[in-house]
Amino acid sequence: MGNLTNPTYISAVLNRFDFSFQKKYGQNFLIDDNILSKIIDSAEITKEDTVLEIGPGIGTMTEELAKAASEVICVEIDSHLIPILEDTLFNYSNITIINNDILKTDIEEISNKYNNGKPFKVVANLPYYITTPIIMQLLENKLPIESITVMVQKEVAQRMITGPGSKDYGALSLAVQYYTKPEIVCDVPANCFMPKPNVDSTVIKLTVNQEYTTVVDNEELLFDCIRASFNQRRKTLSNGLKNYPKLNLDKEQIAKALSKANLRQDIRGEVLTLDEFIELSNIINQIQNEDI
Ligand code: SAM
Repeated sequence: MGNLTNPTYISAVLNRFDFSFQKKYGQNFLIDDNILSKIIDSAEITKEDTVLEIGPGIGTMTEELAKAASEVICVEIDSHLIPILEDTLFNYSNITIINNDILKTDIEEISNKYNNGKPFKVVANLPYYITTPIIMQLLENKLPIESITVMVQKEVAQRMITGPGSKDYGALSLAVQYYTKPEIVCDVPANCFMPKPNVDSTVIKLTVNQEYTTVVDNEELLFDCIRASFNQRRKTLSNGLKNYPKLNLDKEQIAKALSKANLRQDIRGEVLTLDEFIELSNIINQIQNEDI
């Protein structure tokens, strides 16, 4: 590993560029070599791969990614970090730095421009204030992505892997498990970062798979049903579906769908598995089409 995990070296670089940490951008830089190796190893990057890194910071992970991959494209929102990255990554010719907000970045265009539209691997120590929007953007837009290996807040990783019966179970769990096979890589204590965050972290790897997409008749409807049931967690699934205007379902249609899916009329959405949500949404899709 290089010098970029050494706090004294980092402070010297930051002072040289007169850089101050921006809390609003979730800037907690990784300073642990062991965790850095685990992230790079678990992402299984080879010289065939193009990697998209979100939020390179001062380039700590970027440098290791550049050694392992063919190309690294990184997107960093903070313009004050760009001259620092140009300096710390000066020796690497396979890194492209884009100064932009990842949520406003056309990732498909990046894939076409830098990787001929082929799937790439995403690796990041994510800014925690926008973890869920970033993950949903990467998954829902069906971007050409093979896997996503990311550092997230520990509780968020828990939400991604949990199933029915847990208070953490929700729309994020179902979206992650629908689009990917998630696995925890390791937990990361707060003292592995500079400055230290107030929360513990976890590295999670999401391997994209198409297994479920083939059995769903209407994906938009599936996610509307999921959102409808978790929007009003305390209510029954039946009420949740009825109160979600976009679904435009009446009481009779909902009762019919629940009974066809062999679900109790007073069941709550939070106890349904992904397979049950899929079956229910396929039935609702059928009922809506019959009624046209
Ligand atoms: N990768 C570095 C590391 O591991 O040390 C920094 C990780 S730090 C937790 C998150 C990084 O994401 C920061 O560099 C921050 O400026 C950047 N960032 C925050 N919001 C962003 C956004 N919307 N788009 C792109 N980068 C963002």
